[in-house]
This record gives sequence, structure tokens and C-alpha cells, in this order.
Amino acid sequence: MSAPSSWGRVCPSAPRELRSLCDRADARALLMGTPGVPVLAHGMGRSYGDVCLNSGGVLLRTTGLDRFIALDRAAGLLRCEAGVTLRQILELCLPMGWFLAVTPGTREVTVGGAIANDVHGKNHHAAGSFAHHLRRLELLRSTGERVVCGPGEHPELFAATVGGLGLTGLITWAEIELQPVANAFMTVRTTRFQDLGAFWELNAAAEAAWPYTVAWIDCLAQGARRGRGVFMAARHAAAQAQLPGWKERRRSMPVDPPVSLVNGLSLRAFNTLYWHRAREGTALSHYLPYFYPLDAIANWNRIYGRRGFYQYQCVLPPSSMREGIDALLQRISRSGEGSFLAVLKTFGDRPSLGMLSFARPGATLALDFPNRGASTLRLFEELDAVVAEAGGALYPAKDARMPPRMFRGSFARWEQFAGFVDPGFSSDFWRRVAK
Ligand SMILES: Cc1cc2nc3c(=O)[nH]c(=O)nc-3n(C[C@H](O)[C@H](O)[C@H](O)COP(=O)(O)OP(=O)(O)OC[C@H]3O[C@@H](n4cnc5c(N)ncnc54)[C@H](O)[C@@H]3O)c2cc1C
Repeated sequence: MSAPSSWGRVCPSAPRELRSLCDRADARALLMGTPGVPVLAHGMGRSYGDVCLNSGGVLLRTTGLDRFIALDRAAGLLRCEAGVTLRQILELCLPMGWFLAVTPGTREVTVGGAIANDVHGKNHHAAGSFAHHLRRLELLRSTGERVVCGPGEHPELFAATVGGLGLTGLITWAEIELQPVANAFMTVRTTRFQDLGAFWELNAAAEAAWPYTVAWIDCLAQGARRGRGVFMAARHAAAQAQLPGWKERRRSMPVDPPVSLVNGLSLRAFNTLYWHRAREGTALSHYLPYFYPLDAIANWNRIYGRRGFYQYQCVLPPSSMREGIDALLQRISRSGEGSFLAVLKTFGDRPSLGMLSFARPGATLALDFPNRGASTLRLFEELDAVVAEAGGALYPAKDARMPPRMFRGSFARWEQFAGFVDPGFSSDFWRRVAK
């Protein structure tokens, strides 16, 4: 069994032992196996940094916990094991007219991983994050105790566990609410915008009418073009929608190139082409290219070569988001380090349920950076200064390097959360930021 890594491939990590969970009953024995050695659950490893890694400890692979337990077809309520992936849920439930209430930009994540990072999607302003649609879950602690918790049952342990980065115990199953849809299609309205001012206007108008909104920004454009991008607003299509002949096409990145294929030239060409070729107007799309464009290329993270890549995702509060996002883009475009299009999205006001949940009112900017070593890390320090000054935060699910002071300064409840950490659990991330 190869050692699991995380998506960015910038965090070397060697667990002392890997164990694969096969069912809920054997989880207790596997979890309690080695006293004194910390354990951590590992789902699909789609986190970019080290929240899913545990050097020197035991890593529990959860993908064998893949059973559906119950589905109430009338109410859209699903109970499943925590290693079930969002792809598996969609394959089962979409033909019955049910869709995920919240989904991140890949369907290759487990329910346990989605809960532990309290993930968000393009509909945060309308639907909140993953935990808002969670009725209950079972947590297996390192003592062997099983605790069922939810908003009305052990609410504090629930609030620590959602967004709790896998540190409160092993989630064995969860009960999630789905949303009804008529079919597999989306109505998508695409608009190009010339600068950030136009983005804020478009976004404010669209949020009132569309459940899904997101923008892609050309992070390499400079001068008058800085902040230009493509805005997409979407909703699930009406019953009569049809897209004849649509077929899923999957490609894969078969090898690890020795160096990154992402460089200044290829990036500038890609970003410019994307902006110019975006087709404006309203059109139907299958849900796969709309929600999961990157899933169409398996192992796409390999294009960055063996040195891997970072993702930098921050959120800035409403009072400072306009100036702050502009300042971040200015520094990124000047550095020439940025990668493909940056994603810009606003979060709604609905308070997150988790003590460490990342989503909070404001705007979130996310983009990838090839790992070029010291120059990339220096740029992140500059970006950190803007984020800190703006009163923002970085997303642990995407992080591989934030300084401890940044984590502690931007997750106000982290000390309260620390009281709920299971003494038998730990992670590379937690040892890096909290110890
Ligand atoms: C292409 C791409 C797009 C993405 N888009 C988004 C997005 O739009 N929004 C967003 O929020 N995130 C996004 N992400 C991040 C991703 O959704 C999260 O990192 C998610 O948590 C990964 O789930 P996983 O199953 O791979 O978990 P892992 O990455 O393996 O683990 C994540 C955390 O969950 C814990 N965990 C896993 N299973 C359990 C369990 N059974 N019990 C307790 N803890 C557990 C781990 O210990 C770890 O702390 C994206 C990632 C990729 C690669």
C-alpha cells in the first residue's frame, strides 16, 4: 500500500502505519490498536496540505467505510458511512431526483472529509456550508466510546467536529439532507467583466436571484485589465430541460513530469484564451462540467511536476474585502507566480456551525501556485500580511504553510476547540499550528 499524500504534493509525510477500515464494527479495534501513537482519518486526500497527514502516527484510510445505510426517498434524507464519496451519492441519488445540498469543486471527496473541513460550494450565499445540511453523525473516540451528535444532541461536540479537521475522533456515519432536482442539468448565465468594480456589481445583483454564483479571475492580467474575469450564475434546470448527446469524457495525466508544465508562458496564454473565449449568455450545462470541471482530468495535480503546488485560499470580511482582494490580485499579478484562473466568490451571512469552520461572511479568493520554493513562500508572506491586515483567514483544507500566529489569530474559537480534541488523535497540521 503506497503512503497516502495530499493533493498539492508539497508535504512530505511518512505515517508509521497505515490501516484500512472495512466496516464500522472493525473501526474500534483498528483505532485503539497502538496506545500512545496518534491516529488520524484519511479520506480521499483531496485536501491540499497537511490536515489529512499524520507523520509518525497511524493513518486510518476510510474509503472502505462505503456503505449506504438508509435513504428516505420521500424526504431526501440519506444515512451513509463516512467513507462514501460525493460521487457515489450522486450516482445513487440523482436518478431518484436528489442532489447534494452543498458540494465542493470535486466530487472525489468522502462524506467524512466534507464534514471535517465543513466544505462550501458555489451556493454558500444561499445554502451555507456542508454542516448546515447534516442531521447527525456518529463519532468514535479513541476510548472506544461511540457518541451520536448533531445540532440538538451533544451540540458542543458536534460544533467541534464539523470543521474539526478530524481531530475529535473518527466519524463512522452521517445523516445528510439532500435537495430535490428535476434532472442532471444546470442553467448557467455567463458574463465577462472588465475589473473588480464590475464583479462586485454583478455579484450583488446575481446573489438575490441565483443560488450558485462564482467568478474566475485572470490573475495574471495587469494594469487596466487587473481583476477582469468571467462571472457564472447558475441554478438547477427546469424539468423539461434536455441536452441531447451529452457524454462524460474523462482524460488522465498519466505520468509525473520531472518539472512543472505550468509556466509563465503557458499560463498567460491559457488565461487570456479563457477570457476571450468565454461565451456570454444563458445556456444549459450538464452538472459535471459545471460543478466539477477539474474532475474530467484524473490526476491533474501531476501537471505541476514532482515539486507539487500550493493552493492559497483566504476569506476577507465585508468591511475590507474590496480593497483587500484588489491588493492581493495586485501582488499576485506583479509576482507572475500565480497559476490558472483564480476563483472569487462571496460567502453569505449564515453563521457557520463549526468552531473551526472556515466559511464566514465576506469574499473568498483561491488560486494555485506551482511550488518554486523560496520565491513562492516569500509571496505568501506578502499575501498573509494583506489577509491579516484585512482581518481575514486562510482555509486549513488548502493550507500547507500558514504560520501558527495566523491560524490562532483568525480562528477565534481555536482554544475552545482544543478542549474537544481527542487525546488519541493528531495531524501534521495540528502539530504545526497549535503546539
Ligand atoms: C479540485 C478540488 C476542488 C475543491 N473545491 C473545494 C471547494 O469548492 N470548497 C471546499 O470547501 N473545498 C474544496 N476542496 C477541498 C476538499 O473539498 C476538502 O479538502 C475535503 O475535505 C477533502 O475530502 P477528503 O475525503 O479527500 O478528505 P481528506 O483530504 O483525506 O481529509 C480531510 C480532513 O478530513 C478528516 N477526515 C476524513 N475522513 C474522516 C472521518 N471519517 N472522520 C473524521 N475525520 C475525517 C481528515 O482527518 C482531514 O482532517 C477542493 C479540493 C480539490 C482537489
